[in-house]
Amino acid sequence: MPGTDGEMVVTKSEAMNAVQKLLEYLEGDATREGLMKTPERVIDSWEEIFSGYSVDIGELLDSTFNGEGYDGIVLLRDIEFHSTCEHHLQPFSGRAHIAYIPVERIVGISKLARLVDAHAHRLQNQERITKSIADDLEQYLKPLGSAVIMEASHGCMRCRGVRKQNAVMTTSAMNGVFFERAEARQELMQLIQSRPL
Ligand SMILES: [Zn+2]
Repeated sequence: MPGTDGEMVVTKSEAMNAVQKLLEYLEGDATREGLMKTPERVIDSWEEIFSGYSVDIGELLDSTFNGEGYDGIVLLRDIEFHSTCEHHLQPFSGRAHIAYIPVERIVGISKLARLVDAHAHRLQNQERITKSIADDLEQYLKPLGSAVIMEASHGCMRCRGVRKQNAVMTTSAMNGVFFERAEARQELMQLIQSRPL
């Protein structure tokens, strides 16, 4: 994985050795067949699980289009996401709803889903992902407002600690008109809750 300056600070084989150590911590002599390739599989799976570190958000949101005067809410609802809690290295997953009100520029809808993954595919907490997405939309699209609501269940709470299987955590971040005006928030909530399809 690259360091903050883009340099490789730990090599792949060093990372695999570290996973091997963890296996030995669990089992002592961790040489049985099922574990032989586990260090390599774990680090390879990280390429995807932590692919967000290599995404340039500015580049991702760079290709915008003329909104042709559209000034209503743009909402992408029910975007599934998977992330990893930075406190326990446990997965958490759920749904994100992303909205903005364009002033001039709109962005391709798949970019919104990619933006979620760019933040989710790092070591994270849900609050930071939520705020980062809303702030990115504000910075790069300069909309009238941006809003993000995320609902997720957390592995570190389901499998250990208090062991609550069904608890769902909701976080929200509101910028611009969504922060300032209750009517804008209300309209957004109605759109998120409506199920016309
Ligand atoms: Zn956790």
